[in-house]
Amino acid sequence: MTYQHLKVPQGEKITLKNGRLHVPDHPIVPFIEGDGTGPDIWQAAVRVFDAAVEKAYKGKRRISWMEVYAGEKAFNMQLGWLPDETLQAFNDFLVGIKGPLTTPVGGGIRSLNVALRQELDLFVCLRPVRYFEGVPSPVKKPEDVDIVIFRENTEDIYAGIEWQAGSAEAQKVIHFLQQQMGIGKIPYSEATGIGIKPISRPRTERLIRAAIQYAIDHHRHSVTLVHKGNIMKFTEGAFKQWGYELAAREFREQIVTARESWILANKDDHPELGDEEIARMIDPGYAMMTPEQQAEIRQEVAATLATLLPTHGNGQWREKIMIKDAIADIALQQVLTRASEFDVIATMNLNGDYLSDALAAQVGGIGIAPGANINYQTGHAIFEATHGTAPKYANLDKVNPGSVILSGVLMLQHLGWQEAAELIVRAMEKTIGQKRVTYDFERLMDGATLLKCSEFGSALIDNM
Ligand code: NAD
Repeated sequence: MTYQHLKVPQGEKITLKNGRLHVPDHPIVPFIEGDGTGPDIWQAAVRVFDAAVEKAYKGKRRISWMEVYAGEKAFNMQLGWLPDETLQAFNDFLVGIKGPLTTPVGGGIRSLNVALRQELDLFVCLRPVRYFEGVPSPVKKPEDVDIVIFRENTEDIYAGIEWQAGSAEAQKVIHFLQQQMGIGKIPYSEATGIGIKPISRPRTERLIRAAIQYAIDHHRHSVTLVHKGNIMKFTEGAFKQWGYELAAREFREQIVTARESWILANKDDHPELGDEEIARMIDPGYAMMTPEQQAEIRQEVAATLATLLPTHGNGQWREKIMIKDAIADIALQQVLTRASEFDVIATMNLNGDYLSDALAAQVGGIGIAPGANINYQTGHAIFEATHGTAPKYANLDKVNPGSVILSGVLMLQHLGWQEAAELIVRAMEKTIGQKRVTYDFERLMDGATLLKCSEFGSALIDNM
């Protein structure tokens, strides 16, 4: 393939074969350095990646980095904010990594991050959140946090379907709702903005499928579907419903739902109990239900026992991945108070946005929270620092490169280069444990040594 402004280094392409990534020993990986503090953190990070790969594979494997342009650097090179060639390179080489990009201010220019996600249909926003011993934290037991969030990246209110209060379009929609849909109760209709929240079954399913597959591949214990389905029944409630159905249909052998586990646990403990007695135990409100509702619960108990006892009974359900759900507001409390009960979380775009940042704050915040945007069907993935460009610290060699470094760890794991990923994680644990940290941590830790961005990178390499 030929590019006008990009130089393709020696190396080979990562490809997808039969749904699996095929990673050569010298893969070409496009990177965007990023704006503001981007160059500082990228320079620190790339040395860490190369050192880890070298140490793990003794020269047998090496990443061929290919610089691609976006943001201010591209703009200054007169290529525009997001050159087509950059998209083309991420498309051609499948897996890439990026630093933060300035969102251009001015009419008609999309956020570059959003554009990249949309063009490549990167439907999962992956945000693993874990604690590194010694990192300053506002909570009592940050070590309980080891949670991987799968945030749906393409729909929900982020679809951008909304109209300003008072606009002709908003009026038109309100008129339609009132006249044609029989919605009589929109107060102050002329002063009401309107937004639309699309949640579709196929996009819900691909997200939840990816989350469950991740849980299986990484030996996780549970997947929690976080939703606000008690209020938004046909969007968030449907997300939950479709998720449970998908789990039972596609992953029957590997999963157990929370309700199934209660039924099976009661049967394990009291084999003599009948369906009705178990129904009473799993639904405390059983006595107050209508006969039809009671029959439905008994039927659920009977069907669960009939189909699952051989494969899931006698405690076997404990070995399965538990599929459960939590209402979003309660989940936001519980990730603070009982973080250990959460493992993999699958949720929609807005809930995922709130949850990722709330959780990241518990374990050191913006400077070390990694992220990735992935399409598990095509193999496309872009790993990225989750913070912005922090322009006031640009070129000061000051900020924490942890976020982009841990995003690189995710990338190495995604490539199957576990040994190199592991070396970086161990080095991170050791360096932070030695209290050798950048300014953001140093000011919150007693007796810490202040390192520059580049020095933190060097310290990681020394500690490998
Ligand atoms: P920001 O994340 O750049 O900075 C907010 C504050 O967080 C900084 O002042 C700094 O105190 C701290 N911080 C950020 N990164 C840090 C690091 N690596 N180490 C230590 N401290 C760090 O957010 P902002 O100021 O709201 O946004 C600045 C620009 O970045 C905007 O143009 C915005 O659109 C863009 N942005 C880009 C991305 C992205 O590319 N993924 C994400 C968010 C914001």
